[in-house]
Amino acid sequence: MPSLGKMERELLKSARSKQATVIYPFTKEGLNVPPDLRGKWVYKNPNNCTGCKICERVCPSDAIEMIECRPEDVQTRTGFRPICHFDRCLLCGQCVESCPRDVLELSDEFEMAYLSRDDMVIY
Ligand code: SF4
Ligand code: SF4
Repeated sequence: MPSLGKMERELLKSARSKQATVIYPFTKEGLNVPPDLRGKWVYKNPNNCTGCKICERVCPSDAIEMIECRPEDVQTRTGFRPICHFDRCLLCGQCVESCPRDVLELSDEFEMAYLSRDDMVIY
């Protein structure tokens, strides 16, 4: 029997090895999402917000707007709460770092495609 050539050896090696890729977006199983990923802006602890406006002040791209608390919102001390215009967010993390109450988070949600800018306002 003739000996295997380099290509055949590589094919055999590859056939025996673990799958290196994931059939994303059909599955997310096995995706290697870095633990410190800066993904979608979310409220981590909305009940902690005092409405102090620090997050609004530190945002370099004016992505955060303070709005009056709606009846369905957590009522803050100042009566205001932040919303994020995510189309302007740089994912810099300044608001997360500066919030004294650990309210905000850049989550591990990385699917951030939207059909309109209105859909990108995060309440
Ligand atoms: S999210 Fe944090 S920094 Fe922003 S208003 Fe609330 S408590 Fe203040
Ligand atoms: S992550 Fe940066 S750009 Fe985005 S809302 Fe926070 S401070 Fe603004």
